[in-house]
Amino acid sequence: METLIGEGKTKQVFSYDSDHVLLRFKDTITAGDGAKVNIMENKGVINAQTSALIFRLLERNGIRTHYVGMYDERTMIAKKLKMIPVEVVLRNIATGSIVKRLPIKEGEIFDPPIIEYFLKDDSRHDPMLNYYHLEYFKLMSRKEAEVVESVMMRVNEVLRDIIRKMGFELYDFKLEFGRLGNELIVGDEITLDSMRVRDPKTGRILDKDLYRKGYDLKTVKEAYEEFLSKLEKVV
Ligand code: 5GP
Repeated sequence: METLIGEGKTKQVFSYDSDHVLLRFKDTITAGDGAKVNIMENKGVINAQTSALIFRLLERNGIRTHYVGMYDERTMIAKKLKMIPVEVVLRNIATGSIVKRLPIKEGEIFDPPIIEYFLKDDSRHDPMLNYYHLEYFKLMSRKEAEVVESVMMRVNEVLRDIIRKMGFELYDFKLEFGRLGNELIVGDEITLDSMRVRDPKTGRILDKDLYRKGYDLKTVKEAYEEFLSKLEKVV
């Protein structure tokens, strides 16, 4: 493998060639801005495969992503981007931080969806940003934010459709964007760590909320595996 150039809570970044990097998905699962950490065996493989299937699906639908191909079963070859340290969240159904922050009840439906921006800063628990903050910190211009929001809406249509085909419902998801020349491209990952998926009939949770809520790792892993095997059948 090449030189390690970066490492986050769940992925390592290696140099590859002048235009590409390798993203190696680790087996770590974390919550609470890194306060809770465990090893979930094979999670890196499951998440790399899940992410790859979703990135390929988005590309087929005309959405630009950093995905190029797989290096091995847990390592993705990705376009080298200048990452913007912002988490962009789209919500279809209320749960998570929004029901704690605002007078909104669990399960309220957002039509149109709500988009929010958060600064990637664990020590400050990822504070929410508005357009003024984005411009003040030189993270994104207002025009770029409009582009990001239209990509978020397109990704939502594609993701929601495929997840419905699997018999589940997409509550919310988080994307990170990077620059390639003048273009804004979807980077990072799209996995059950970064979206919320539930069974609409039973309310059963399939995503990282299982881990956040204290379910055992076996239950979490089985949910991640079930999601991936159903995804493989519908894409
Ligand atoms: P919330 O703001 O409700 O905690 O999260 C909204 C959505 O963004 C959820 O799907 C959640 O998984 C995702 N999300 C929020 N913060 C993070 C983060 O720091 N890392 C990851 N992987 N996903 C996040």
